[in-house]
Amino acid sequence: MVTNKTFTMLKPDSVENGNIGAILEKITSSGFRIVAMKLTQLTTADAKAFYAVHNERPFFDDLVEYMTRGPIVAAILEKDNAVQDFRTLIGATNPSEAAEGTIRNMFAESISQNAVHGSDSDINAAIEAAFHFSEREMF
Ligand code: ATP
Ligand code: MG
Repeated sequence: MVTNKTFTMLKPDSVENGNIGAILEKITSSGFRIVAMKLTQLTTADAKAFYAVHNERPFFDDLVEYMTRGPIVAAILEKDNAVQDFRTLIGATNPSEAAEGTIRNMFAESISQNAVHGSDSDINAAIEAAFHFSEREMF
């Protein structure tokens, strides 16, 4: 099923570096509507569950450490073709390969500290949104 929603996190480096406002401005001026949003922090169990698909990878422990070290902004975004268009807006996982003007090109430090998350499929967008938000927090 194709939906028009995706899920994002502004990762701890974005919050630490004072980039919440600039990144949200980039997201909304690119045509995404914020449906739900909160400042929150992942527990170790949360981060392990969220990135479970990577649990065999050599960078997994560093990824969990990074994603839990401080607050994040979690949000649900709405737009036609949301999942794909948001992945285009954030750019490649490695900021050195991210296209000019993408969020990771502008705000990410490295492949391991890359400023933002974007869901990679409609089904994962729905799972990730439900992980963070109840029905009454979605507008
Ligand atoms: P995200 O799921 O956070 O949107 P992504 O889909 O672009 O990122 P994934 O392959 O799902 O990339 O990797 C999840 C996260 O794990 C990356 O965003 C990055 O923080 C970290 N990561 C991925 N590959 C590497 C790597 N080779 N070395 C270090 N960290 C990595
Ligand atoms: Mg991913």
